[in-house]
Amino acid sequence: MKRRISILGSTGSIGRQALEVIEKLNDKFEIIALAAGHNTDLLNEQIKKFKPKYAYADEESAINSAQYMTLEEICSNKENDIILVAVSGRIGLKPTITAIKNGIDIALANKETLVMAGDIVMALAKENGVNIIPVDSEHCAIHQCIKNISQVENLIITASGGPFLRKSIEEMKKASVEEALAHPRWNMGKKITVDSATLMNKGLEVIEAHHLFDIDYDRIKVVVHPQSIVHSAVEYVDGSVIAQLGLPSMHIPIQYAITYPERYEGIKSKSFSFSEIARLDFQAPDWDKFKALKIAYECGKIGGSLPVCMNAANEEAVFAFLNGKIKLYDIINIVEKMLEKHIIVENPNLEDIFDIDNNVRIKTRELIN
Ligand code: NDP
Ligand code: MG
Repeated sequence: MKRRISILGSTGSIGRQALEVIEKLNDKFEIIALAAGHNTDLLNEQIKKFKPKYAYADEESAINSAQYMTLEEICSNKENDIILVAVSGRIGLKPTITAIKNGIDIALANKETLVMAGDIVMALAKENGVNIIPVDSEHCAIHQCIKNISQVENLIITASGGPFLRKSIEEMKKASVEEALAHPRWNMGKKITVDSATLMNKGLEVIEAHHLFDIDYDRIKVVVHPQSIVHSAVEYVDGSVIAQLGLPSMHIPIQYAITYPERYEGIKSKSFSFSEIARLDFQAPDWDKFKALKIAYECGKIGGSLPVCMNAANEEAVFAFLNGKIKLYDIINIVEKMLEKHIIVENPNLEDIFDIDNNVRIKTRELIN
């Protein structure tokens, strides 16, 4: 039987690659809905090609030849077996919760969902018997390496180090938008690419891993690995380390997540060759240069509403950087300032989370202006 899938964020980097995977595996999937924001030209092309029943875009009237449905309606539609959440930023959270409440499995690319409300989302998934399969390459790797979480000593998350790995703090401070967007390994949406330049992305991923695998922050390690061949690893209590390797391509983790627990050849371009790769390098992160990583660990450990504040301030600061209003390094300073002012709410509920998210965004924009 075909797996019935909807994609939130079909016009984005992950969404487009997911459709390439689905095109290759077209006998395995039926697309129920595609959802995007502004890029209705591409969305309409996708609708023409993949013929979903339903579609969502910011502007309802821009949709041709599919029935309009809101994100909430898409996620409560039980025609779906699985929903790929590949929108970027905070908009992923609400629809993900709706899908989980409706017993629909989630392939989760949108890490902000777990950073904002990981405790709530994971508890709801458990309650509703819903699988959350990570799309993020590191978490996908760990998902493949974990058999029994109670035997795990540490999770080892790899980081490419981004475009400033070999640059000084001074150079990083002067970086232009173009330089920050020139990621050496991955071609991604702008927000995550800037996060990868500051290593905030790795910080968000540490929090994501804490929730997905229910493991203490002290047992999540980050190692810089510029080649992005080892996508992450799991160290077991007996000292055995299992890592997942592969050429750097998001098609593989996307395909893994949407076809799990099956495996298909799919879009694989060539066979993996250790001798062609020849060497793999690893080094500890530079915690002073990449302060965002340290901040994210601290926010995760303290918990409560602090990660919500961090995520909101970061997202607003990243937009301001992309719009030329602030410098790259200001992002971190702004996040720190917002965190200093934040009054922590312990165990925030969803309403608290959305309120805090909104308030922090308003205050961050005030600070920037
Ligand atoms: P992009 O910016 O490329 O894509 C974002 C998608 O979300 C677009 O389709 C966009 O539509 C859509 N969108 C934005 N706003 C709305 C809205 N209000 N309603 C509906 N759709 C909306 O991001 P990425 O694909 O790079 O990343 C998506 C998520 O996946 C992020 O959370 C990121 O952290 C995560 N991720 C991405 C990776 C990657 O390789 N790209 C790797 C690991 C994780 P439109 O363009 O039409 O406005
Ligand atoms: Mg990642």
